Amino acid sequence: MKISEILSRNRPALSFEFFPPRNPESEHVLDETVGKLRRFNPDFVSVTYGAGGSTREKSLYWTTGIREKYGLNVMMHLTCIASSRRDIQDICRRLRMEGISNILALRGDPSRDLPDYRIQKDFRFAYELVEYLRETDDFSIGVAGYPEGHLDAVSLGRDIENLKRKVDAGADFIITQLFFDNRHFFDFMDRVAAAHIEIPVIPGIMPITNAGQVQRFTEMCGATVPGEIKGRIDNTEDVFRVGVDYAIEQCKELLDFGVPGLHFYTLNRNRATEEILAGIGKVLERE
Ligand code: FAD
Repeated sequence: MKISEILSRNRPALSFEFFPPRNPESEHVLDETVGKLRRFNPDFVSVTYGAGGSTREKSLYWTTGIREKYGLNVMMHLTCIASSRRDIQDICRRLRMEGISNILALRGDPSRDLPDYRIQKDFRFAYELVEYLRETDDFSIGVAGYPEGHLDAVSLGRDIENLKRKVDAGADFIITQLFFDNRHFFDFMDRVAAAHIEIPVIPGIMPITNAGQVQRFTEMCGATVPGEIKGRIDNTEDVFRVGVDYAIEQCKELLDFGVPGLHFYTLNRNRATEEILAGIGKVLERE
């Protein structure tokens, strides 16, 4: 089912993100995780895709496999950097054949190992992929948004202009980068409104479950960790509990604000997401 249709209903959507596992042991973990999270009846789940097509076959395998085995509605992430039109055409054909109707259209990050001539292929930015998908196919298309600005962005204003370009190219919805301070999301929504972006914006949620993550997240995606949560983490032996409780507060506030859904970055684990959903209560419950 198309995510654009799901989001036109008047209730917050629930979604989980997974990545294709690298070895048989983690394949088993993901399989178990999906099996456990399935009981929450998510509106959709998504499978990430390595930039330059590095996980291409695995992403396709898990996207179609989760749909077949668990009957879940699936979206595949698709990055365009270092891919040719022909590569993208081929993947889209395969997704269509498998009955997948949702794509998260992304640029991806240029790998350090790739020489420039390989990066500058048919697509430089995600909006070009959105344009291409819109012209050639009928997928429901999501794009990425950055409440604290994308790491390469010259300014927050420019970043929103670039987001608007993706929307004008035909995106149906936005999923955000993870963030820990809802004020960043609320400010982002002000900029979104000022830019006349009217498609649904789903916040991406990832709880901090161990102390090492704090610095990693900040370096990887520029998400700042507020002093309040840093303090709570420094003063506890149970970082998992503190992180999950904080995420519950964060999600409740976002739901009160009226977000059209919550997208959980599960890191292929079920426990944190399960506990957050239990903590939020009935709002996201599905029959
Ligand atoms: P773009 O929208 O193309 O933006 C990239 C940068 O270029 C931004 O700074 C933007 O402001 C700027 N820009 C855009 N258009 C222009 C223009 N015309 N002129 C000048 N500058 C411009 N990565 C993966 O590899 N695989 C995944 O599965 C994956 N899933 C993700 C899921 C979510 C929800 C999010 C938020 C991110 C995900 N990423 C994934 C990370 C993403 O690929 C990186 O953040 C990447 O650096 C940017 O991708 P984008 O689609 O946002 O790019």
